[in-house]
Amino acid sequence: MIDIRNLRKRFGAQEVLKGVSFTAQTGDVVSLIGASGSGKSTLLRCMNMLEVPDSGQVLIAGEEVALKTNRHGQTVLADPPQVDRMRTRLGMVFQSFNLWPHMTVLENLIEVPIRVLRQPRGEAIALAEALLAKVGMAEKRHSYPAFLSGGQQQRVAIARALATRPSVMLFDEPTSALDPELVGEVLKVIRDLAQDGCTMVLVTHEMAFARDVSSKVMFLHQGCIEEAGTARQVFENPGSERCRQFVNAQF
Ligand code: ATP
Ligand code: MG
Repeated sequence: MIDIRNLRKRFGAQEVLKGVSFTAQTGDVVSLIGASGSGKSTLLRCMNMLEVPDSGQVLIAGEEVALKTNRHGQTVLADPPQVDRMRTRLGMVFQSFNLWPHMTVLENLIEVPIRVLRQPRGEAIALAEALLAKVGMAEKRHSYPAFLSGGQQQRVAIARALATRPSVMLFDEPTSALDPELVGEVLKVIRDLAQDGCTMVLVTHEMAFARDVSSKVMFLHQGCIEEAGTARQVFENPGSERCRQFVNAQF
């Protein structure tokens, strides 16, 4: 469903991703854990080409994102319209909620389906309302984001990401900007999605949550996958001493 092959990315002198490969199959929940600065966000951002990797391949539902080398020797997108299409197959949810503030909840959900995917308005609204019901936000569909709590905004952001019917959801620390009492409601939505078989790649510091929902856990250290396996293997019996120390410090 999403296949990452030998991804490399450097910022100036610093090589942030040093050849990362992994696959998330349909229904997989892959959690990415690791210390601050280990490259987790960069890896997610390279998956949807918010950062263009220096080399390597990203395949989404079997289709490779086309990259080329320009005359300065930089790797760039070979086919930007292809990337726009691919992005609609990846639902991205960030730490900050980034809803469009001048649009209501419902308008936030139907914008991309109508304008980019050219869906009929009625169809887009029907899906949006179903998704808002799923995340428990149906009653707020005509509210503006500023009138919602952080947890409510993040649940809307998740529904918005689902509104393009993505093949894979990417979450980058979706609860770390929330007040502690609001974390649970967002984790519940993500857990429900996992139980529905939604394929996802999740960066999180919520270790107990990652242990419960993940089919695969990857520990990133300085741009390399140092440990990967089932949640049980990685949390209870990691081969890497660094991974063991990291995990133990989290619980
Ligand atoms: P955190 O847990 O703090 O979110 P992370 O694992 O997500 O950390 P990244 O954000 O991927 O880490 O950053 C990895 C390294 O790359 C860091 O040293 C960071 O400073 C650097 N980096 C990330 N983005 C850029 C950028 N646009 N320009 C320069 N350096 C960057
Ligand atoms: Mg990060």
